[in-house]
Amino acid sequence: MTRSEISVCLTFDFDADSAQIRQLEEPGRISKGLFAVRRGLPRILSLLNKHDIKATFFVCGWVAEKYPELTKEIVEKQHEIAAHGYLHEYFDTLSIYDEKTIIDNTTKILKEFTDKIYGFRAPYFKLSSNTLQLHAEAGYIYDSSLMADDHPYLLSFPELKYKMIEFPVEWFLDDWVIFETHQHSPEVAFNIWKKQFDAILEMEDIAPGYRIMNYTFHPACIGHAYRINVLDRLISYMKTKNTKFVRMMDVAKELLTNK
Ligand SMILES: [Zn+2]
Repeated sequence: MTRSEISVCLTFDFDADSAQIRQLEEPGRISKGLFAVRRGLPRILSLLNKHDIKATFFVCGWVAEKYPELTKEIVEKQHEIAAHGYLHEYFDTLSIYDEKTIIDNTTKILKEFTDKIYGFRAPYFKLSSNTLQLHAEAGYIYDSSLMADDHPYLLSFPELKYKMIEFPVEWFLDDWVIFETHQHSPEVAFNIWKKQFDAILEMEDIAPGYRIMNYTFHPACIGHAYRINVLDRLISYMKTKNTKFVRMMDVAKELLTNK
């Protein structure tokens, strides 16, 4: 990869109404999650198809069970599905036993759709000190929940001889924070995403092959009409810069092989 080249992982956390159901919320809140199912996810799949891009979808085990047709469609369109808890749990509050049960159960459910389950993202980006090691033991090769860098890095568990790739996230790039928490306008959102992309493209302290960016989106958020148009515009802009759009599992395998 030369300095002019950059790879982008578009990632979508398909939570649907999982968090609302776990927290016993009322129908109004539940309906906000259901927007992902009725409108958000279909719009995203159609946009990715239009641009001929493959992406990564973090899917809760419960969501895959409740919406098998949509989950199947993601896989059939050759996107990646990866784990995102069973019912969008706070992993930092769970016992090691409960974490392991959730990880094993979710992995089993997702593997009914494809045997290529390699990645995990913690709901709310919150992990316990056991979460990553438990995923490594379960065969996962990457995580995307931490924030220690702005391009992928290696996580080692020397005593276990496991290695994982970390695809770091950031709150300021997360569509939920931009649109729902701060109610920013489409122009502000576009500028944040574009400016970070432009800066990473030029940053000289990133080693060759590691100029890889990661955006976090949620179908219930980015799927709204004016917001999906912003994503469309962003993808079109990135395409003018010789961007490769990649699935996380493919990058993780490549980086681990080169280690
Ligand atoms: Zn989530």
